Amino acid sequence: ATPTAVMVATGKGASQGVLIKGGDALEKAHKVKTVVFDKTGTLTVGKPQVVSAVLFSNFSMEEFCDLATAAEVCESNSEHPIAKAVVDHAKSNPDHIPEVKDFEVHTGAGVTGKVGERMVLVGNRRLMRTSEITLGPEVEKYIFENEELARTCVLVAIDGKMAGAFAVTDPVKPEAQRVISFLRSMGITSIMVTGDNRATAAAIARDVGIDYFFAETTPVGKADKIKDLQGKGEIVAMVGDGINDSPALVAADVGMAIGAGTNVAIEAADIVLIKSNLEDVVTAIDLSRKTIARIR
Ligand code: ADP
Ligand code: MG
Repeated sequence: ATPTAVMVATGKGASQGVLIKGGDALEKAHKVKTVVFDKTGTLTVGKPQVVSAVLFSNFSMEEFCDLATAAEVCESNSEHPIAKAVVDHAKSNPDHIPEVKDFEVHTGAGVTGKVGERMVLVGNRRLMRTSEITLGPEVEKYIFENEELARTCVLVAIDGKMAGAFAVTDPVKPEAQRVISFLRSMGITSIMVTGDNRATAAAIARDVGIDYFFAETTPVGKADKIKDLQGKGEIVAMVGDGINDSPALVAADVGMAIGAGTNVAIEAADIVLIKSNLEDVVTAIDLSRKTIARIR
């Protein structure tokens, strides 16, 4: 496109809340045949809430929540939505929350730290597996029942044993299903990638009408999926909101960040969807198609 055409399209995009950072993304967007969506915060609202809490141990619910909160409070500095959900639910008295030592974030798995004298692990199945924590049938049943309902389970182990769990729900955005089916009508395939587990991912994919998804994917794994598709000659757009999406946003031909997402994602993207509305994925591709059609 000519510099003038790019300028006009960029201005038009901006007025609709679609911030296009350069001519390159605008040129490529009309060729997109595959859109890869992140799940949490992209297809879903991204404000997960705890809908149930269970104990698998002798801790009181209050003590259990305080310990989980202590570990997640450290993480909530980096603002993982699941950490926020646990902290909000527990409503622990800030004076009660003990100090955490040796705090560690395990990307795509959870957090660990020493809370007072206790070793606390908060995260998913993978975190428990790598820490050699046995789940047992009661825990497996809880996980199975909740994942079927598209909920994510947050498992908590204290001093090497399963102590309890939270089930977290994060509803899909109201426009998600409509956008996926509209993209299909434009000849565009939608794929979902997520760090979350397979069962929860399957339930969300089904809810929004996505046929292909990859679960339990690391941030680098998300980028690798994009590169695989590109290797098959596809022009690929990636839509994401998290730090964990930034390698994929960079790898994609057109990276689109959710405006409400993290700064890291916004910086990594070519296009920012200021309104955080998925309809604007269509707006962006449409704008590119019209701009390119006009100059040809
Ligand atoms: P997504 O790709 O869906 O945005 P992430 O890669 O950030 O997800 O995380 C993948 C999974 O790791 C989450 O679904 C959750 O099970 C677990 N997890 C990550 N961070 C935390 C945390 N702070 N507390 C508990 N669980 C976490
Ligand atoms: Mg996300």
